[in-house]
Amino acid sequence: MNGDIRVFKFGGASLRDAERVRNVASILKNYFGERLLIVVSAMDKTTNALEKVVAAHASKSGKAYELLAEIKTFHYKMTETLFEDSSEVNNLIHDIFVEAEWVLDEEPHPHYDYMYDQIVGIGELVSSRIMASYLSSIGLTTHWLDARDIIKTDNLYREAWVKWDETVENAKQLAMPHLQPSQFVMTQGFIGSTSENFTTTLGREGSDYTAAIFSYCLDAKDMSIWKDVPGVLTADPRLFDNVTKLDRLSYKEAIEMTYYGASVIHPKTIKPLQNKSIPLYVKSFIHPEGEGTLISSQVEDKYPPMVAVERNQAVLYISTRDFSFVAEHHMSYLFNKIAEYRLQVNMMQNTAISFAICVNNIDDKIHQFSAGIQHNYGVIIDEGLELMTVRHYNQQTVNSLLDGKMVFLEERTPNTIQMVVKDLPVITRKV
Ligand code: ADP
Ligand code: ASP
Ligand code: MG
Repeated sequence: MNGDIRVFKFGGASLRDAERVRNVASILKNYFGERLLIVVSAMDKTTNALEKVVAAHASKSGKAYELLAEIKTFHYKMTETLFEDSSEVNNLIHDIFVEAEWVLDEEPHPHYDYMYDQIVGIGELVSSRIMASYLSSIGLTTHWLDARDIIKTDNLYREAWVKWDETVENAKQLAMPHLQPSQFVMTQGFIGSTSENFTTTLGREGSDYTAAIFSYCLDAKDMSIWKDVPGVLTADPRLFDNVTKLDRLSYKEAIEMTYYGASVIHPKTIKPLQNKSIPLYVKSFIHPEGEGTLISSQVEDKYPPMVAVERNQAVLYISTRDFSFVAEHHMSYLFNKIAEYRLQVNMMQNTAISFAICVNNIDDKIHQFSAGIQHNYGVIIDEGLELMTVRHYNQQTVNSLLDGKMVFLEERTPNTIQMVVKDLPVITRKV
């Protein structure tokens, strides 16, 4: 039985500046008196900025302190605008920045991903401190909770996996008692910690997932993520015109769409909610009175075509050097290697002596993978591609999506079409 606890998540866009922070507070005012846990991301593009600090430190470019100083200035300006007397909150955020500076005072840590998490995780810590103090200062008493005391993970830095049993136990022991009608509880998205209490992160854009973890652990009544769009749309409005809002979506549809690039929700978010039948609302922080999209177990009769685009794709055409068929033993070897190099395969196709995979082109992984298998296999790589997934497609939608594109791989089922494409070069004719 799900209880009366609700979980809200506000992302970076909703906390972009002081005006947006005040807007979030005005939304939250309507819920004071309910048992509400609020998860926040880092403000605006702070995570990207912190990534630059890490890179600067690792490369010893000498720019790391300067880059961190810009981030500090942004947050101190924010507190100056939001608070009549910002000294108390400034002390709190000062302590967090000092921890990052300690990392910078040392030689760059040889384990990049470990160092990354220790620095990049501070974005959410600072943001949640400011938000909790601000809400309390306007009469919405808010208890600040360190998500790292609750969410326990393995030590796969930058992509940590949750240890569910411990996390559920911690949430019941440490978060539940603070959830009172007389106070909100505020915590951070994106971060957790190892058994040795080192900070880990759950993967970029992971704050939606954090909210789902808390919802699961606390048997929430519902969860809402507040976005700069009216709800889940038939496609990303940054890429397409003529998008419409979906009022309802099943968990299954939401998983399919987010897995293949509908970036409005982090793909890992849905499963914990589905397991406990917790409804997810995607709502607009710009028009909070709107209905948003409800994602639940209810299956709709009919959906319009829905498009998800995953950029930065590469296709690897792998062929056997000895012309032997790509049979089971090759497959099993190649999949072991794919797992070892942690490539995320979005699509695959095989012929007699070759095997093509479409993967996310992150860091230098595909080239390392190719080098790792090159003694037995030839690999040809196409980069700079997009994967377009259309659920409930019709030919008209497909035709219009393919206008000006070249198709590299395609796969159709009755429900879904996936196409790996690249823009055709624009040929300008001289007259
Ligand atoms: P947050 O502030 O929580 O980090 P995001 O910026 O990650 O929010 O997610 C919201 C963005 O997701 C929207 O501004 C929109 O451009 C993008 N988006 C991608 N696909 C969709 C979709 N199908 N429906 C709505 N928004 C989408
Ligand atoms: N701040 C983190 C990021 O930008 C997590 C999140 O926003 O969801 O990736
Ligand atoms: Mg985001």
